[in-house]
Amino acid sequence: MWMAAALAMSAAAAQGQGGRGRTVPIKPGEECPPGTTLVRVGQCQAPEWPAPSIVDYRPTSTLVVDEHPVPRAKFPVIDIHSHTGPTPESIERLIQEMDALNIRVLNNLSGGYGAELKQRVDFIRSTKHANRFTLFANGLNGFRDVEPGFGKKAAAQLEQDVRNGAIGFKIFKPTGMDTLKKDGTRLKINDPELAPIWETAGRLNIPVIIHTGEPSEFFKQPDMHNERWLELALFPDRRQYLNPNKVTFEQLLAERNGMFRRHPKTRFVVAHFGWQANNLAQAGKLLDEFPNVVLELAAILYDLGRQPRSAHTFFVKYQDRILFGKDTYAPSEFPYYWRVLETTDEYFDYYRDYHAFWNLYGMGLPDAVLRKVYHQNALKVAPGLPQSGW
Ligand SMILES: [Zn+2]
Repeated sequence: MWMAAALAMSAAAAQGQGGRGRTVPIKPGEECPPGTTLVRVGQCQAPEWPAPSIVDYRPTSTLVVDEHPVPRAKFPVIDIHSHTGPTPESIERLIQEMDALNIRVLNNLSGGYGAELKQRVDFIRSTKHANRFTLFANGLNGFRDVEPGFGKKAAAQLEQDVRNGAIGFKIFKPTGMDTLKKDGTRLKINDPELAPIWETAGRLNIPVIIHTGEPSEFFKQPDMHNERWLELALFPDRRQYLNPNKVTFEQLLAERNGMFRRHPKTRFVVAHFGWQANNLAQAGKLLDEFPNVVLELAAILYDLGRQPRSAHTFFVKYQDRILFGKDTYAPSEFPYYWRVLETTDEYFDYYRDYHAFWNLYGMGLPDAVLRKVYHQNALKVAPGLPQSGW
């Protein structure tokens, strides 16, 4: 105690001032100036010690409540949004990890196309775990340099890939946002040139999973009000406010919705809840407007877990329209998803500070909803998934 007090005093002395008498008055509606915090109505004060960086400040919660960690999902899971597929070296380890977590099927969205895709499928089929791994095909040439005639070629490639074993089609984030056409303009996702691909997916009865945009805060200046400040400071490639195409979040969603509207017979899976898990009313509108659209929940757990009651209501209302996905395959991270979806635990840690500096709460979903989200909905949306044994 004495040591701490002495250290605190020396820190204050080093700054050449005491803790008192440093309050700054503010008027109603005004914000405290930088370096100060509200201590009384209309009064801001600077801390006496140098403030730690938000990178280092990791306070230990003193809250004592019941805890129910969930190492294994309550029902078998299809991870529709993975980028991990088996190799001869990894397959036995993957199966062990998946069994422990109760993940029945891992769906690799990075299946590629052509010979590469066929090789991946053929390997899966050659193993004794052929019903545990599936994959989606990707766009010809990564949708780069699109010019007249591209759509038909890409659609033909998709048809070939489905014949070779792909069970869906994945559109990656750059498509629609960064990728340029041969003429140097941005390839919009609703470009009519791409229409044959969506029509083909509909005819072949396979889903198209689409990643559009980024969290809306990535399109805004990283100021002291931006809740994703740390993530933007860490990763230059996420700074969409610097996007050379100057495209906005709203514009990307409008272009995507235009495509949904024009292809009502194609099933679309909106990855990451369309980055609207922080605005469930908007996410609900999307589902209401487009019966051919479902949502997938990868990498938005921090948004569900900070609004457990709203999220519970949403999941019950739209229980037939939500698929489980995780994106990054990390066995230690899946249990956080099980715990948020299954329990009513309160104020527990999340695994990545740069996503969320807040803690999570459980949604306590009923079993019938969990079964749908974990696997039943995916089985309907992607008929190519292993359909037996559930
Ligand atoms: Zn992904």
